[in-house]
Amino acid sequence: MAGGEFAFIEQLRCRLGKMASDVRLGIGDDAAWLDPAGRQLVATMDTLVAGRHFFPEVSPEDLAWKALAVNLSDLAAMGAEARWCLLSLALPWRAEGYGEWLEAFATGWSALADRHDVTLVGGDTVATDGPLTLSITALGLSGHGVMRREAARPGDVIWVTGTLGDAAAALDLALVERGQERRAVPCSAPRRDALEARRLRPTPRLEFGAAALAGGVLCAVDCSDGFLADLGHILKASGVHAQVALDALPLSPDLADLARTDPERLQRWPLTGGDDYELILCAAPALSTALQEAARSLSLRLTAVGSILPATPDARAAVTLTWRDESLSLPFSWGHVHAL
Ligand code: ADP
Ligand code: MG
Repeated sequence: MAGGEFAFIEQLRCRLGKMASDVRLGIGDDAAWLDPAGRQLVATMDTLVAGRHFFPEVSPEDLAWKALAVNLSDLAAMGAEARWCLLSLALPWRAEGYGEWLEAFATGWSALADRHDVTLVGGDTVATDGPLTLSITALGLSGHGVMRREAARPGDVIWVTGTLGDAAAALDLALVERGQERRAVPCSAPRRDALEARRLRPTPRLEFGAAALAGGVLCAVDCSDGFLADLGHILKASGVHAQVALDALPLSPDLADLARTDPERLQRWPLTGGDDYELILCAAPALSTALQEAARSLSLRLTAVGSILPATPDARAAVTLTWRDESLSLPFSWGHVHAL
């Protein structure tokens, strides 16, 4: 992408490439030069493709927020402090036409990046005949190691931040509106907007992730593919099983109301719906009070939803679900549904 590319990158640099003391060289040279000041580097990358991970008509503000949020959420799950990002853009149009798009994109990006003091330090910009595609590399720092999927132990309490299922409900609502989902979801406009805001602008739990790690939590994952799928990653990596109380799963009042008349969705949205970007943590019971205190000081809901059990070879599934202490068999298939 010649010609307009330079103006495009200059606009990006002006809007997003702010100075920071740990950035020796940011956007503009062949590579960024960063100064982690002796701390450990934590790196992650996520790609979003139009039509697969977002509706092509999404606003550039919301798109920027979400693309950054999903990457910061991965750093949160490790307990790292987010510092820097690199952004690769494959644009299906010519760069000359991108001034307004980029301005709006930069607004959505900074709304989240400034909250966490994250600097854009480089990237790549190419034209493509394919769909709009964004790849972000997020770099964070840690002084106390990281939280890992393989570190859950029998006896650990399973914690979840925030609430589960809002984004999945919002996606169903959006699919109904588009005629792609036949079963209607009766919902008022304000409630629909509240759920949609959760889907479009997830909140990466960076402060809580860092506090949990500092407090001694060893195991966490972020909830991007659905609670059961992501808890499943922990169970597989750690070689353990779990018991989860379905009646303890944290639901927003909007979701609880919406799903009251539809028990199948009431279970499916929080259990298998993706895109929540909450954290699932496994921690020894001795850490419970400190974790609850950390969550309270951040005004963040934190819920104990179950416990880690030793693996039993003859168990039918790695997760036993209970409802009011009775074990439950699921009325639906609980594979992760890939969706927008
Ligand atoms: P090179 O050809 O040396 O790779 P580029 O022309 O691709 O350089 O990029 C010039 C500068 O602009 C580099 O510092 C690069 O990191 C930055 N840059 C290019 N595209 C982006 C982008 N989408 N976001 C942030 N920085 C970018
Ligand atoms: Mg380049």
